[in-house]
Parts: sequence; structure tokens; C-alpha cells
Amino acid sequence: MKKLLPTSTAGSLPKPSWLAQPETLWSPWKLQGDALIEGKHDALQLSLQAQQQAGIDIVSDGEQTRQHFVTTFIEHLSGVDFEKRQTVRIRDRYDASVPTVVGAVARQKPVFVDDAKFLRQHTRQPIKWALPGPMTMIDTLYDNHYKSREKLAWEFAGILNQEARELEAAGVDIIQFDEPAFNVFFDEVNEWGVATLERAIEGLKCETAVHICYGYGIKANTDWKKTLGSEWRQYEEAFPKLQKSSIDIVSLECHNSHVPMELIELIRGKKVMVGAIDVATHTIETPEEVASTLRKALAFVDPDKLYPCTNCGMAPLPRQVARGKLRALSAGADIVRRELQNT
Ligand SMILES: [Zn+2]
Repeated sequence: MKKLLPTSTAGSLPKPSWLAQPETLWSPWKLQGDALIEGKHDALQLSLQAQQQAGIDIVSDGEQTRQHFVTTFIEHLSGVDFEKRQTVRIRDRYDASVPTVVGAVARQKPVFVDDAKFLRQHTRQPIKWALPGPMTMIDTLYDNHYKSREKLAWEFAGILNQEARELEAAGVDIIQFDEPAFNVFFDEVNEWGVATLERAIEGLKCETAVHICYGYGIKANTDWKKTLGSEWRQYEEAFPKLQKSSIDIVSLECHNSHVPMELIELIRGKKVMVGAIDVATHTIETPEEVASTLRKALAFVDPDKLYPCTNCGMAPLPRQVARGKLRALSAGADIVRRELQNT
């Protein structure tokens, strides 16, 4: 990116109410068959337009074709039985009914590649595509086959690498892996989490990112955040290893969170997507609030490596709130961009 402080979102944006129930995770589709395929593409274009109208520089599909950022990818793999469900504790935080791994997992055909080509056809701007990370995938499943979290993570890393290589060929500029689980399972992150992530990006020439956050603004997450105390130092656990890894960009939650900004120093040298928009509140940030978060981050990130972003996905927010937050992000980045250019 030549533009200073290029803006982007963590990934998901609200879906139109004719496609899925708003403000709901795992919201069922309201259309079927060909109408659903067409509806998803229409929604993808609307989401792209919303980003463009707000002046977002690196655009995404807004995850309009997925019901959920992890399960939709897994649904396309063989070896996982969606009828056979078990209740597991996700990220040590909330119980969910999840599918079961019953045999060797494999990707029979591309999952998001056609959607990525569709997005590529509709814009010349840089595009970013999000995939779930290996550790977050295994944490959203019951494994009755490998009986080893690590083994299953390595299998998923190989599958993600196949998908990522095809996304790159489809013209995606940045491939992002969502790893909220990196903020929970610290020993595993250091033992094999970062290593499986590097397996997932092996051989890629496009830029790669990892998104680590404190989750969507849903109750289970906001309740968990209340138990974390006044300073959130979770990033401290994974950052030293990530700093040494081959990942290009780290996407973080910074605004309204209790993460001490100086932790970013631990990934010095990486590009940093700084979350300057809180997704856990309907209050729309002012451009000045966004600018203030970005200025604080500039103490620890070189200006050419700072990418203003949202804390997490905005799928559960009302559409108008999400649009307002996109505009605030652009306007706030613009304030700091002008300050940097005048010095
Ligand atoms: Zn997130």
C-alpha cells in the first residue's frame, strides 16, 4: 500500500434483513436455492459499496456469504459430521453445539474462491479475505477421530494453505487468519499455534495477517471481559513468537479495550492493524476518538506500518451503526494522515 494509514475492517459486516435475521450470530438464511446464491452476491456488492462510500481503502466481502466465520468453512470439508453434534466449551467461555470430526478431514473443492473472484471483478481496490485460523477451527469442533488438538490443527493448516493459495491466485491481496483462540490457549500458541499458522501461509506471495481479538460484542464475551481485570495483557503471551514468525500483519483490538498500548512494541517490525472501532457498543466513535487511538499506537508502530481497522467483525451490529463506524474510521484516519504529512 502506498497510501499512508490505509483503512480496513476486521472482516464481517451486517447482512441485509432480507438475507438473514439482523443482529444475530449463526442467523439462518431467509432465502433458498438459486435465490440464496443470488441474494448472497447482491449482499456482497452492497457491503462493498458501503465500504467504498465510507472511504475504506482495503475492502472485503463483509463475509456476506457465510453464516459464521468458522463453521461455514468447516461445512465444506469432508470428515466432519454436522448431524452428529456435541456440546463443547468454546474458548473456555461459552457452550455451543458443534459438529463432530468423524474421519480424516479434507477439502474436496474450493470454499470461498468463487466469492473472492466475484469480489475481485467488482473492485480494483486491494482486497482482504478472512479465513479461520487452525487453532480457532479445532476449538469450534468435537474431535472423535484424531483425538489430538495439535494433530487436527496441523491437518486444518494444510487445508487452509490449499484454500489460501487459490485465494491468492484469484487476486486477493491480503489473506487474514482469525485466531481469537490465541488470546486463550497460551501454552498451545507457543507449542504449535504459531507453527500451524505458518504452515497455513506457506508459499504465499500475497500479504498475510493474523487477527487476534476479544471476540464479537456478544454477552458471553462481554461477561468474560469483565473477569480480565483492569489491564488485559493476553497479547503478551503470543506476541514474541509472532514477532519472529513469517506473518506480515497483526490485527488487534485497541479501542475501548484494556489492552496496554505498549504491548505493540513486542511485535515491532510487523505491520499492525490497529482496532480503533469498538464493536461491542452501538455508540459510534467520533473521528477525533479514532484519531486519538491511532496517535497512541504511533508511539509503538512506524507510520508506514499502521493500518487503522476495527476491533473485530461488525456482523452483530445494526447496519446503520456499522456504516457510521466505517465513516468514523475513515475520518479519524484522515485526521492523523494529515497530521503526519504536515510534519
Ligand atoms: Zn475478532
